[in-house]
Amino acid sequence: MLHAWEPRNLKRAADEHSLSISDITAEAARLPAFDGHERVWCGRDEDSGLTAIVAIHNTKLGPALGGTRIWPHESFEAALTDALRLSRGMTYKSAVAGLALGGGKAVIIADPKHGKTPALLTSYAEMLRRLEGQFITAEDVGMTVQDADFLRGRAPNVVGTSAGGSGNPSPFTAEGVFLGIKAALRHRNGTSRLSGLRVAVQGLGSVGWSLCEKLYREGAELTVTDLDAARTAKAQRAFEAETADPEDIVTVEADIFAPCALGGVISKETIPLLRFGIIAGSANNQLAEHGDAKLLMERGILYAPDYVINAGGLINVAAELSPEGYDPEAVMKKLAKIPATLTEIFRRSEQQKRPTNDIAAEIAMERINR
Ligand code: NAD
Repeated sequence: MLHAWEPRNLKRAADEHSLSISDITAEAARLPAFDGHERVWCGRDEDSGLTAIVAIHNTKLGPALGGTRIWPHESFEAALTDALRLSRGMTYKSAVAGLALGGGKAVIIADPKHGKTPALLTSYAEMLRRLEGQFITAEDVGMTVQDADFLRGRAPNVVGTSAGGSGNPSPFTAEGVFLGIKAALRHRNGTSRLSGLRVAVQGLGSVGWSLCEKLYREGAELTVTDLDAARTAKAQRAFEAETADPEDIVTVEADIFAPCALGGVISKETIPLLRFGIIAGSANNQLAEHGDAKLLMERGILYAPDYVINAGGLINVAAELSPEGYDPEAVMKKLAKIPATLTEIFRRSEQQKRPTNDIAAEIAMERINR
């Protein structure tokens, strides 16, 4: 029963601010996505309209780092499930990328276009401060570098900032995805040549746009879509792209599908309709369920596990925390390992006739338990 999370039950009289933070780990444990999270908090502030969830999945390898997603989820339970799935993904992402970081993620239930007020962000910054460094955050869907700067001015544990930070992680994520697409092509076709191949890109935000630029430069033909029709039209012009309606992008015919919007786009409902040879994109939690990778394998579709191919942004923001300080060259070196890791996953998957995401999870668990 989710009524226990209603704001009136979360107020603590002792708080001098209108923000109240509750430990909702026990409640979150009832959801199928829980997967042994260490801690989950909910911050509410009626004055600013803040409802934020911070989920810490696993800190065995280091402190939990994960982006903050600002999105108008249809219910609190949907937002909590999103936070839990994203946070778990961060544990695996850090482990596979060889980073000394744990997995965590935050979700603020708000419309990033109209609901992201200074009051809301101030209140969220206070939540971050009061968690006393148990969670380090950066950008995700709905949160920009300017937002990160705003938060950093009010809370210490924010990375991906412009002033003295590593800046926007999205170009690094896009670069990793681009290299990952080439690795998938090399594995499948024996060549990473993109010229003349069609890539369907879903979501033309920070990562999707930057990815389109790289693909277009290499001669790929693009089919693009975004919920924002103006962005789709802009991409059509910029990349001489074909367009699809957002609900049709999964059924277009293309060599590669690059999901760069939200999660859950690959499911047992959509898999029979897919006409792609490769799925390789930036979105977190592309599969509605873990078992969907087996269905993809049975259909002969090569799936690049999301948390492996999209680790570029995390590698970049994590570099801010290194004792040597942020070094873009070191970042590019680490990022260049993404295609090799993917190639190893593809190879093992083929050899062992097991889905790529099972192999990726195995690699992550080996590193976490080492
Ligand atoms: P963004 O907010 O900049 O862009 C997301 C875009 O997707 C928006 O333009 C939105 O309108 C569009 N969109 C949402 N739902 C859609 C749908 N159903 N159909 C078509 N378009 C849709 O976000 P981003 O930073 O580009 O991130 C994109 C994805 O990559 C997210 O899943 C994010 O979690 C993941 N990711 C991002 C980074 C990063 O560095 N930014 C790193 C790792 C993973």
